[in-house]
Amino acid sequence: MKMGKGLLLVISGPSGAGKGTICKELLERDQNINLSISATTRSPRVGEVDKVNYFFLDRDKFQEMIIEKEFLEYAEVYGNYYGTPKEYVLQKLDEGKDVLLEIDIQGALDVKDIYPNGVFIFIMPPSMEELKNRIEKRGTETKEAMIRRLESAYREIEYVFKYDYAVLNDEVNLAVDKIESIIKAEKCKVNRQQNIIERI
Ligand code: 5GP
Repeated sequence: MKMGKGLLLVISGPSGAGKGTICKELLERDQNINLSISATTRSPRVGEVDKVNYFFLDRDKFQEMIIEKEFLEYAEVYGNYYGTPKEYVLQKLDEGKDVLLEIDIQGALDVKDIYPNGVFIFIMPPSMEELKNRIEKRGTETKEAMIRRLESAYREIEYVFKYDYAVLNDEVNLAVDKIESIIKAEKCKVNRQQNIIERI
């Protein structure tokens, strides 16, 4: 798939690894990164706002968008659909702007297939014990949903090897420092390639 000049940053990893907190901090530090707002069929949690946290859709509308090929990727996660609306991402990248996707592992691997030039970062929880604590502490889930998230987190850790980078989230600020360094390094790489192409 042809995409623009901006950097496509894909942050993913198991539930409870702290992706959300990391992305929030990263976006606060770097105003040039554009967050792609996903669509989902899950119900809003307390405090979540439509079109800010997610586009909250019913299943019919989501299916309609699948049929119309409006998603860059979509996946069923814990019984609900989640998807990345394509138009926003393509437009921003085309304008040379960086775009951040915070998505699950299935979705990230799909994006990698169609756009291997993206930068794929896997957020590792400090330990499985800590991951369990975080999912429990969040308290937004039913017991069954929590068990489901934990079980898939155990399976999902193995996918770390398919990513370009793994970042351990033992301390949010340190994890975001590392991601900022990755972004800088990736931009240097792109610029160098561009210089070589221009010289040929
Ligand atoms: P939550 O329900 O906790 O907000 O999100 C559940 C999972 O869905 C998280 O792992 C989150 O990263 C993932 N997710 C959020 N948006 C998308 C999306 O657009 N596509 C995919 N594949 N996963 C998403």
